[in-house]
Amino acid sequence: MSGSPKQTDLWDAIIVGGGPAGLNAALVLGRCRRKVLLFDDGRPRNAVSHALHGFLSRDGVAPAQLRAIAREQLAAYASVVVDEARVVDAAHTDTGFSVRTRDGRRFRARKLLLAAGVADALPDQPGFRELYGAAVFHCPYCDGWEMRDQPLAIYGRGDHKGGGLALEMTLWSCDIVLCSDGPSGLSTDYRQRLDRHGIAIREERIARLEVDSSIPYQASFDIVFESGPLLRRAGIFFNTESRQSTDLAARLGCDTYSPKGCTVDNDQQMTHVPGLYVAGDASRDVLQAIIAAAEGAKAAIGSTRRCSTRTWRDGSYQRRAHLCGKLLANTQLTRPDAAQARFYCGSVGIQLLWPAVSECRPDSMPRISRTSRRGVDLWLPSESLRKPPTSNPALTGQCF
Ligand SMILES: Cc1cc2nc3c(=O)[nH]c(=O)nc-3n(C[C@H](O)[C@H](O)[C@H](O)COP(=O)(O)OP(=O)(O)OC[C@H]3O[C@@H](n4cnc5c(N)ncnc54)[C@H](O)[C@@H]3O)c2cc1C
Repeated sequence: MSGSPKQTDLWDAIIVGGGPAGLNAALVLGRCRRKVLLFDDGRPRNAVSHALHGFLSRDGVAPAQLRAIAREQLAAYASVVVDEARVVDAAHTDTGFSVRTRDGRRFRARKLLLAAGVADALPDQPGFRELYGAAVFHCPYCDGWEMRDQPLAIYGRGDHKGGGLALEMTLWSCDIVLCSDGPSGLSTDYRQRLDRHGIAIREERIARLEVDSSIPYQASFDIVFESGPLLRRAGIFFNTESRQSTDLAARLGCDTYSPKGCTVDNDQQMTHVPGLYVAGDASRDVLQAIIAAAEGAKAAIGSTRRCSTRTWRDGSYQRRAHLCGKLLANTQLTRPDAAQARFYCGSVGIQLLWPAVSECRPDSMPRISRTSRRGVDLWLPSESLRKPPTSNPALTGQCF
């Protein structure tokens, strides 16, 4: 699974990003026998988080553990290769896409899936970064339960980002203060609604957070304002902008790209750029790990279904095959009656339906050594067989 991917290969899909979206896409594609190269430079959005919540069967695990389990399970799929490099550029090619890594390597693929996530913009006053993931959070659906019934502050401005989040937080606590760090920009309507819920508003500029304890979910700190009394809190939920981790979609001409996220079609996560998919936080849906994973699966299935399929018809297609060093010329294709194998070489994918395939070792399938309009040259090294084929095998299959 890990290793040095070949730059000469044409991959079915390159995935940029190994968070829940990219890893799940790789898993689904691996199970479809797709040849997949996944890049991940190991800087997930939730790196500071102590526990992942709201993910079926993994509620409360460390985010790094979720990724480790996913990587471990991915290792079972030999056609998936993971590389730790950062992808810095992407371009269109005749066969799909090429990407360039920071260390100067180039790779080509038919499909490109961007699952690179986003990065959050934290308030820059001292204390926020120290408490990020322990007492400073952005998502109530991720960490609201852990902070329930505690004294909370909301950091945000305007009706939606400030007032709306403060009102939403009443699901978890009735001790809430909205801190707008400057003029709140709230409408009269929102001021009244906040007032009805007993939510106070502090519009003074925040100078810093003075931290007594930063134990995750049990922290205590004071919000120190430039004027006015301190405010003792156990947690802050903030609502600021997040930005895409890469601009690769924009470089590829995706005009629904914005720093906040790409708009994609909801069924398959595809952008309007053929072959380009975006999944996870980098698309514009709800920003949660299980949704990112689901979008990765959607993109994987969508990209697989969109592979053009050309079927060889019985008797109408001829092939030459090197079989254990013996050239078999112009063998007619016949109807399949036994095992199947699907594999890639160069720019062509082949699905073989052939009795002898069942005799191949799973890690050593036939290779196509050359393709032309007349057919394909198949190379089946003798060491890849469990036992030598006894007869001239009939061969049929599909190009995809
Ligand atoms: C503090 C915090 C707590 C959270 N808690 C929860 C929670 O409890 N429950 C929940 O469901 N969600 C939670 N989230 C949200 C969750 O982290 C995201 O929704 C999820 O990680 C999105 O997955 P993703 O695969 O889209 O992106 P990410 O997980 O961010 O993964 C993207 C990956 O792509 C890599 N990458 C980016 N650019 C490149 C490049 N150019 N080349 C190579 N690699 C690249 C990054 O290094 C990263 O590993 C939390 C977020 C934060 C910030």
